[in-house]
Amino acid sequence: MVVPMFNEGSGIRKFLDGELFEEIRRLEGATGGEARYEIETVLVDDGSTDKTIERVRSTELFREREKKGLVRLVAFSKNFGKEVALAAGIRYATGEAVVMIDADGQHPAEAISEMIKRWEKGAKVVTAVRKHNRTKHRVGSWMFYKMMKMAGNKEIVEGAMDFRLIDREVAEEYNKFTEHNRITRGLINWLGYPQEFIKVEIKGREAGRGTYDFPKLMRLAGDSFVSMSRTPLVFFGVLGLIITSFSLLLGLFILIQQYILRDPLGLDWSGAVAMSVFISFLVGLVMISQSITALYISQIHIEAKNRPLYVVDREKSEGIYEKGR
Ligand code: UDP
Ligand code: MG
Repeated sequence: MVVPMFNEGSGIRKFLDGELFEEIRRLEGATGGEARYEIETVLVDDGSTDKTIERVRSTELFREREKKGLVRLVAFSKNFGKEVALAAGIRYATGEAVVMIDADGQHPAEAISEMIKRWEKGAKVVTAVRKHNRTKHRVGSWMFYKMMKMAGNKEIVEGAMDFRLIDREVAEEYNKFTEHNRITRGLINWLGYPQEFIKVEIKGREAGRGTYDFPKLMRLAGDSFVSMSRTPLVFFGVLGLIITSFSLLLGLFILIQQYILRDPLGLDWSGAVAMSVFISFLVGLVMISQSITALYISQIHIEAKNRPLYVVDREKSEGIYEKGR
């Protein structure tokens, strides 16, 4: 199980020792039934500036897992973002299947058994989909999905969450991705393994606050808009072509109508009006296409530098150098 955490100090104990530990005990057969699974917990601290790490270390789950050698704590040197935290968690995880789950208690841990059941029946990817869209960014998220679909991002499924199980095979393929700008679910969908979906009830945050504020969401939307598709580029190319041919024809028409035929239709074009309308229209278009091009270039720039995806703080980490990487 991979758990990304960023400044979750206020609710992390409740989540780890509550729901998650309960589910782990159930799966390991500690609360009756036969022990069929061994659950390794990979906790990724994404550069928290609060007491997340200390709190994690003081949990019953951590101490019990540590004794059994079933815990890894990957502490980043700074905040690299949730998607990168997940990537690291998946890299360090060694299990036959990897489940990623948020640390804020919004993903119902009791759904993991169901995911595992599906996995045992052969599913390579099991994704949780929210039953009701109760996010406070409802309009924004709806627009985001519409925009993504329009931009040709077939990989994005509406309502799908980063609460999912992937098979070892999928995890290995996932580990080959090197891009920095990543949307985990988009990449996993891109891999093309058939998916099963289970409906879960998403809960409110147990403590702390969501870290995706509006500017961050806008950036995420912008990045994902260009990171998965060339459609925006093609779209503005075609639009530019249509507008150019259209204005060429219109210009010819005005020229012939007004100056060669001496305005038989009596339209009495004012050249200045026509010009200013056209110019402002075209300037707008040029600016839009420029900004889109710039988005692509900025992404190429980031990827071209090819920096490491994250940096691990070894002192703060635990249990990651014996096995794993
Ligand atoms: N998270 C993270 N790094 C970040 C932001 C968030 O690891 O920079 C973690 C966070 O601790 C939580 C999960 O990612 O476990 C989802 O974050 P959040 O609840 O803020 O997002 P939302 O629920 O709005 O998708
Ligand atoms: Mg959340």
